[in-house]
Amino acid sequence: MFTHIDHIGIAVDDLDHVLNIYCGIFGLQVTYDESVPEQGTRAIFLSAPSGPDIELLVPLHEESPVGKFLAKRGPGMHHICYAVPNLTAAIEDCLAAGLQMIDTMPRIGAKGKRLAFVHPKAVGGTLIELYEAK
Ligand code: ZN
Repeated sequence: MFTHIDHIGIAVDDLDHVLNIYCGIFGLQVTYDESVPEQGTRAIFLSAPSGPDIELLVPLHEESPVGKFLAKRGPGMHHICYAVPNLTAAIEDCLAAGLQMIDTMPRIGAKGKRLAFVHPKAVGGTLIELYEAK
């Protein structure tokens, strides 16, 4: 089902501090920065020369999903995103296998890409994002 790990999402409560570490020390570069008001989230993508990206997730307000995540669990890893060639087929395969989905239909996320989330309870505790890469 998966072709590769696209990115790892990290919930952030102190963006300047985290950017100083990831860019200033680790040498990653900011490649994309978008606020998505409908989801109450600012998403900042960082890239290394190869391998998956890092997506820093900053809540635009406390009641957003990432704001609630930070209040409950604190900053840290939020999700792993796997690229799939056909999102609709991947959702159908997950549903057919009995996995609990947060999204049973594709939604539009950062970068205008189609994605869907698998519930963490269905897959051992880690939120999984399926991302249609073409
Ligand atoms: Zn993501």
